[in-house]
Amino acid sequence: NLYNMVEDLKGNIRVYCRIRPLFRAEKKSVIDFIGEDGSLVVVDPLKPQKDGRKIFQFNRVFGPAATQGEVFADTRPLIRSVMDGYNVCIFAYGQTGSGKTHTMSGPSGGTTEELGINYLALNDLFQFIKIRSCLGDNDLALPDASKHHVTSTADVISLMKFGETNRAVGSTAINNRSSRSHSVLTIHVNGEDVSGSRLYSCLHLVDLAGSERVDKSEVTGECLKEAQHINKSLSSLGDVIMALAQKNSHIPYRNSKLTLLLQNALGGHAKTLMFAHVSPEGDSFGETISTLKFAQRVS
Ligand code: ADP
Ligand code: MG
Repeated sequence: NLYNMVEDLKGNIRVYCRIRPLFRAEKKSVIDFIGEDGSLVVVDPLKPQKDGRKIFQFNRVFGPAATQGEVFADTRPLIRSVMDGYNVCIFAYGQTGSGKTHTMSGPSGGTTEELGINYLALNDLFQFIKIRSCLGDNDLALPDASKHHVTSTADVISLMKFGETNRAVGSTAINNRSSRSHSVLTIHVNGEDVSGSRLYSCLHLVDLAGSERVDKSEVTGECLKEAQHINKSLSSLGDVIMALAQKNSHIPYRNSKLTLLLQNALGGHAKTLMFAHVSPEGDSFGETISTLKFAQRVS
């Protein structure tokens, strides 16, 4: 259809940046300018003069005042693509506390207006397709993954609450577990579109582990191993998306389990959207720059 032809011309990889609001206790924001065209200017709080200003360019930037609805309005075309038979991957990337889970799931105990992309996307899918499908893992062996049959958004919401509980259980073993693991919600669509044609496609909704660099002097043993593993999988993801953006002939999917798992929805006719999340306070400036550089590299 015409919409997808236009989308194809724009390329299959899009990068949006989202900046969360400052918390009450936080000092000045490092965000200096947000352009309608996706440009962003940040300022180093230690070098507020000219050489501390850094300019980035994305497909879109959502400022602290952006609502969940506004963010979803610019995500929705990708959900339409799933209904047109495309495989789609949507990622939330950024340091812990930057708003990844807020974007994907919404705040815990949030009102209906604050529901995140996971719910809004599922809602659209259930509205437009007669789904006879399930949710869960790929063929790849994932010991902790499970597959469930769902027929409504309510089914998915309760399933995801269950998933969150599972994710939280691990936190007694390793502190702050949820920020040290990826959460992948995969929806296999096996249904009929509005015209009655058979439809097979999948949508991966990924709340990535926190991207912050872990100080090696502070963690040891299992925690260090886990941190290195996460850094490796995030950089492998960056390498894959960058290779796709550059249209390289070799795409290094095999370098991590994450990229292997998502392989069918990265590259080829698949579409990818990466949200780069940013905490605006000065103390996070170093992580903010590294997030923005990562995101710019893959866009
Ligand atoms: P992450 O998943 O990246 O660790 P969270 O999504 O948990 O971060 O966000 C950290 C805190 O900031 C939460 O209390 C969340 O509700 C709040 N927050 C994040 N983004 C927004 C936003 N856009 N608007 C309002 N509050 C937000
Ligand atoms: Mg989170």
